[in-house]
Amino acid sequence: MATGKINVSVENIFPLIKKFLYSDHEIFLRELISNATDATLKLKHLTRIGETDVTYGKPVIEVKINKENNTLHIIDEGVGMTKDEVEKYINQVAFSGAEEFLEKYKDSAKDSGIIGHFGLGFYSAFMVADKVEIITKSYKDEPAAHWTCEGTTEFTLEETTKENRGTEIILHLNEEEKEFLEEQRIENLLTKYNKFMPVPIKFGTKEKTLPKAEDAPEDEEAKTVTVDNIINNPDPAWTKQPTDLEEEDYKSFYRELYPMQFEEPLFHIHLNVDYPFNLTGILYFPKLSNDLSMQRDKIQLYQNQVFVTDNVEGIVPEFLTMLKGVIDSPDIPLNVSRSYLQADGAVKKISSYITRKVADKLKSLFNQNREDFEKKWNDIKVVIEYGMLSEDKFFEKADKFALYPSVDEKYYTYDELIEKIKANQTDKDGKTVVLYASNKDEQHSYIQAAKEKNYEVLLLDSPIVAHLIQKLESSKENISFVRVDSDHVDNLIKKEENQVSKLSDEEKEKLKADFEAIVPKEKYTVQLEPMDSNAAPLMITQPEFMRRMKEMQQTGGGGMFGMGNMPDM
Ligand code: ADP
Ligand code: MG
Repeated sequence: MATGKINVSVENIFPLIKKFLYSDHEIFLRELISNATDATLKLKHLTRIGETDVTYGKPVIEVKINKENNTLHIIDEGVGMTKDEVEKYINQVAFSGAEEFLEKYKDSAKDSGIIGHFGLGFYSAFMVADKVEIITKSYKDEPAAHWTCEGTTEFTLEETTKENRGTEIILHLNEEEKEFLEEQRIENLLTKYNKFMPVPIKFGTKEKTLPKAEDAPEDEEAKTVTVDNIINNPDPAWTKQPTDLEEEDYKSFYRELYPMQFEEPLFHIHLNVDYPFNLTGILYFPKLSNDLSMQRDKIQLYQNQVFVTDNVEGIVPEFLTMLKGVIDSPDIPLNVSRSYLQADGAVKKISSYITRKVADKLKSLFNQNREDFEKKWNDIKVVIEYGMLSEDKFFEKADKFALYPSVDEKYYTYDELIEKIKANQTDKDGKTVVLYASNKDEQHSYIQAAKEKNYEVLLLDSPIVAHLIQKLESSKENISFVRVDSDHVDNLIKKEENQVSKLSDEEKEKLKADFEAIVPKEKYTVQLEPMDSNAAPLMITQPEFMRRMKEMQQTGGGGMFGMGNMPDM
């Protein structure tokens, strides 16, 4: 039996690990299962390249709770370790064996999906355990080894007997960490971090109801059997090729990701790139909803199928954080601050790649099925408009497919809109005037009046429209946006031929005077409209500033009335 001192550069690394390594104690399980997964995938790789003649079989990783002994066990059937390897990989803290493996098998192991690279993963076990044991048997023909350490720099390492190849890690849980002996707590953790890891993970058993035989009698009871409770789906959709997936596969993966979400996504974007960085993933445009669960379900970041976080701030441009789905990239540096992330070259490239893919997808949806795109517009406009505001590159692309709906639900692209209105809607400075309403009901009479003059009125009602208008006015030439109920509408050059009144000038003046006599002047202005108009033949309007004041006080309602609809005065 050997005893020795763990070789560390800091005098005692354990208090450090406990305090600072990860603020979240629960991630120890993710680290240990990552190691078990690595060990399994290494064996798979070695058998594939013919370096060993052991049979790979169908290995699983098992997690077991022993409440009597206060222990948690993580058991794999991977490569295992010889005594020398334990000495090297475990005792030399911060020596990452995964990195060494990848270095050694550089060319063949690129796609093996091996996870570890911090070299401190294993020691995170000491965040929750007073004592950790490793019992391991290598695939090489050597005796098994037993390592024990009680959270100091002292350890013991001795030969032992173990029947099966692979490694068992035993955590003797700390008094304060007994929560990790609760089945539900462990099951939740496994589901959170390991749901899509590439090796099956078994946690206990479950009952499964067998389908009845076709010729079974009606009253026969359904048979149940006990089967392994496998936590994960080792082949999630995003790891597959888009050509191997049907629309339905994407939808069912969405349900797998967000089991509490019943609304179907509008469409998906499959990300798949391996140069100059490695990234896979599927993003979904959700249906717009105020549902709280909708806001809780976020884009999840993975590394080689291990869940890392659902805070993708800094990695995905902000306007796309409203999307759902998964991003998996080994090239995103972890355990670094968000501000560092934003400055990182690889992350910047990833962010702009994602933006480009989203823009390309939207463009192709627009080109392939415009009608469908128009139907979805209301759900996707916030993301697109927000993107146009915040990313110039996205603006350039979106300018071709961003839609501007009219109050009559005609959808124009920017170019189509200008083409449609430029002859009829110009102001005295020669600018093309885009008229828009922000609320169809409140501004109804104004909309009607504008329509009478053959003006096209847009309905722009998204929350950021004021900013978008500013952006358009500053980036497009000779254009001015005017709200349909603003006084500036009068600045449009009127086409006189549309406005033949059936009243003589005298009659008009008489009518106007009659009304002015009963309407308080300081509050309203009386205005005549042509009598052949379908809208109000006569308008009593409030000055614009008063209407806006009223809106601000949220009393609602415009300030314009037809004859039969006079306000209480
Ligand atoms: P990393 O995973 O980043 O290499 P860890 O601290 O998590 O660092 O693990 C250190 C090393 O210990 C691993 O690289 C591996 O060589 C070895 N190791 C840990 N767990 C196992 C295991 N279950 N089976 C085989 N080797 C393991
Ligand atoms: Mg590791």
